[in-house]
Amino acid sequence: MVGRQEAIEAFLAAELRWRLVREDGGGATTLEGPAIILGPTDKQYLFDLRIEVPRSFPSRGADPVVVILKSPMKLGMNAHVGGSGALCVQMPPAHEIDYEREGLVGFFQQVLIHLRRAVIYALVGKYPGPAYAHAEAGQKEFRDELVAKFPLGLQRFVQPGLGMPPDNQWCPCGSKRRLHDCHKAELKAARAAYVEAGGRVRVAVRERLKKK
Ligand SMILES: [Zn+2]
Ligand SMILES: [Zn+2]
Repeated sequence: MVGRQEAIEAFLAAELRWRLVREDGGGATTLEGPAIILGPTDKQYLFDLRIEVPRSFPSRGADPVVVILKSPMKLGMNAHVGGSGALCVQMPPAHEIDYEREGLVGFFQQVLIHLRRAVIYALVGKYPGPAYAHAEAGQKEFRDELVAKFPLGLQRFVQPGLGMPPDNQWCPCGSKRRLHDCHKAELKAARAAYVEAGGRVRVAVRERLKKK
């Protein structure tokens, strides 16, 4: 579990070009720094960002505010960027972040993914992957998609809240095979994705940024 101060320190240690700009007494901490985003042809796009970490971070719902200070291209609300340059961080992958576990580093990785999607959208006119709607609608869209990939009998088990069906019983899909010989692996992966949405993309973007 990461505390607020720890999360900020870990982030600044990981992102060397970022700096702490301001610490309002008892309020938000403001950080500023760059984000390098790879476009669809591996060209780099440099953004300057500000992240305001709310006082109650990392508790649930205490989303940091991300504002684009400088952008190499125009990004509109359809790319989840508001008029003031504020990023809509409620897109489904970001929404799934467990701040207490992943801290600001995990959050920032989602911001990079988010920006990369926006850049590709601005250049190509199409999102890579689904074009999520805003906030809760988008989260629902994402989850419905994940659930719909399974046969009816299994769909309710995609939500991790329910617990896995017993290993040695018939698979709820109706195949008359034991769960572990049928949908077990697939179901486990989907349950993880439900929580860890975007994780694989996150790692991929990270690795590619490191290589440059
Ligand atoms: Zn949005
Ligand atoms: Zn099955």
